[in-house]
Amino acid sequence: RNVIPHRHYHTNIGGKVPLGVMNKRKGLRIVVTGGAGFVGSHLVDRLIARGDSVIVVDNFFTGRKENLAHHFGNPRLELIRHDVVQPILLEVDQIYHLACPASPVHYKFNPVKTIKTNVVGTLNMLGLAKRVGARFLLTSTSEVYGDPLQHPQAETYWGNVNPIGVRSCYDEGKRTAETLTMDYHRGLGIEVRIARIFNTYGPRMCLDDGRVVSNFVAQALRKEPLTVYGDGKQTRSFQYVSDLVEGLIRLMEGEHVGPFNLGNPGEFTMLELAQVVQEVIDPNAKIEFRPNTADDPHMRKPDISKAKELLGWEPTISLRQGLPLMISDFRQRIFGELRDVSA
Ligand code: NAD
Ligand code: UDP
Ligand code: UDP
Repeated sequence: RNVIPHRHYHTNIGGKVPLGVMNKRKGLRIVVTGGAGFVGSHLVDRLIARGDSVIVVDNFFTGRKENLAHHFGNPRLELIRHDVVQPILLEVDQIYHLACPASPVHYKFNPVKTIKTNVVGTLNMLGLAKRVGARFLLTSTSEVYGDPLQHPQAETYWGNVNPIGVRSCYDEGKRTAETLTMDYHRGLGIEVRIARIFNTYGPRMCLDDGRVVSNFVAQALRKEPLTVYGDGKQTRSFQYVSDLVEGLIRLMEGEHVGPFNLGNPGEFTMLELAQVVQEVIDPNAKIEFRPNTADDPHMRKPDISKAKELLGWEPTISLRQGLPLMISDFRQRIFGELRDVSA
């Protein structure tokens, strides 16, 4: 199949075929950058399961080989230690571009590196898509809306972002990545897709990555107080990882460029989230207030009408259903044992 000219191969297989038919087709060659991370490893599971060959490109900044260890020995998975800030030559049909730290603690750790990853890394993956005629999907973020003045946030909203703040390496980085993606599409005819992902949680999140769901779950399991930042009245909408992966695949296989919000519209204050964690893990867990971080968005909730209408997608797992699904994984990694408190 290497002799088939790439563009033709892609056009034959590409996104206009319904998913049911796609399952019976010959496997694609797919790059997942950031595939050793939280979301990426779940995406890789789905792609491998449906018969595709996956090349993971990851520098292991926040990702771990353990997230993919269950595929080692499978010839359809290749794992390359590589930093997307450097060019790379690969021959593939699709590129899921996830490489970028997602937790505020991680992306603020080396902000210049975060910008390089978002800008130069995305440029390199678009250059790769252009050279081989692959379809390219960018995982952007709800952070492009900044501290939003419109609620809930629809894709038509342009956002309220501080360009010189401590979060801007990430949110301005992703905004530039979206710009690059659209300019490669408009100017060079590259097939692109843009997802704006809202807060997502599930098994394999880094235990101490500083994000609120992983923090509260790890704290409750360790019998430590749940750390609520600020007054705890700020809101977020939490999506279970399998819902996100389904949305990403539908977006890639579908006909629409986007951007599409992919998130769960269920909205919670951080105090309400702490209560749900208490209900599910430990009713006696204490709450401790801490100062909030700079430029923290006050509210966030996706308007997902566009994804519902054009991708036929909406989340199926509520916070109360999803939380227990990550607890046994966290228990195992914290205590080195398998005891499921949720059962
Ligand atoms: P993660 O930190 O678990 O995964 C990111 C992966 O990218 C890691 O494996 C990391 O090692 C790798 N990486 C980072 N910089 C790299 C570089 N320069 N070169 C190669 N690999 C690099 O985060 P995640 O939650 O899985 O997020 C995945 C993607 O989804 C990110 O692009 C993130 O911005 C986006 N996103 C996630 C969320 C969420 O709530 N999880 C929300 C919005 C957007
Ligand atoms: N690139 C890459 N892999 C490829 C093709 C390109 O990493 O297979 C990189 C390339 O090094 C460049 C970037 O992608 O830095 C943009 O490539 P493009 O061809 O669009 O631009 P140019 O090289 O002409 O600046
Ligand atoms: N937060 C919190 N306690 C924590 C970690 C975070 O109250 O231990 C708050 C944080 O201030 C923010 C919200 O939870 O308002 C979501 O933070 P996270 O870092 O998970 O993601 P963000 O949506 O800010 O990217």
